[in-house]
Amino acid sequence: MTKNKMKKILDIIGEMFPDAHCELNHSNPFELTIAVLLSAQCTDEMVNRVTPRLFSKYKKPEDYLAVPLEELENDIRQIGLFRNKAKNIKGLCEMLVKEYDGQLPRTHEELVKLPGVGRKTANVVVSNAFGTPAIAVDTHVERVSKRLGIARWKDTPIQVEKKLMNLVPKEDWTQTHHRLIFFGRYHCKAQNPNCDSCPLFDLCREGQKRLKKNHNDKN
Ligand code: SF4
Repeated sequence: MTKNKMKKILDIIGEMFPDAHCELNHSNPFELTIAVLLSAQCTDEMVNRVTPRLFSKYKKPEDYLAVPLEELENDIRQIGLFRNKAKNIKGLCEMLVKEYDGQLPRTHEELVKLPGVGRKTANVVVSNAFGTPAIAVDTHVERVSKRLGIARWKDTPIQVEKKLMNLVPKEDWTQTHHRLIFFGRYHCKAQNPNCDSCPLFDLCREGQKRLKKNHNDKN
């Protein structure tokens, strides 16, 4: 992959999804962190169904600490892995209160030390809430990057992230993350990518391979 080809790919995706943005509803960095934590192995749509009530009940870390774990579990029980996530939210809030005076730290290094916050979550938070450029690699970004030959199939999410960072100017990292997510979520889907109507078809060996296979299977 060259920087020129990468730019071409991102320009085309940008035309398809000019409004690509974070789809998790939130009104401050703390809410975004909770929403991203809840979104692991769960759709943003489901998280957005649960958070309006959750965020009106729990406004700050102290509020989450003031209820028993079972009550918090109950408040998020529609979300997959809710027990583990409730435990992590409690742990995260405890650390925020004890070590950060109840405020969310602003750096990636500090964020990844919080319970339940991994590299991807920290990248989403610093880029969306604090304006620090970052490319969070979620399942969509990883799949699309591999299909388009930006990364190799055996690459780990961190390797995919590094390759993207090398190919894209820093000021475009956050927008690249949003564009690749939208492209993966709404076009180059996990099960049925729309290869036959894809504007990136000529640039995508995976898409060409898939269509050829479909054609051969039919004949
Ligand atoms: Fe995805 Fe198919 Fe487009 Fe390639 S051609 S980017 S696999 S939809």
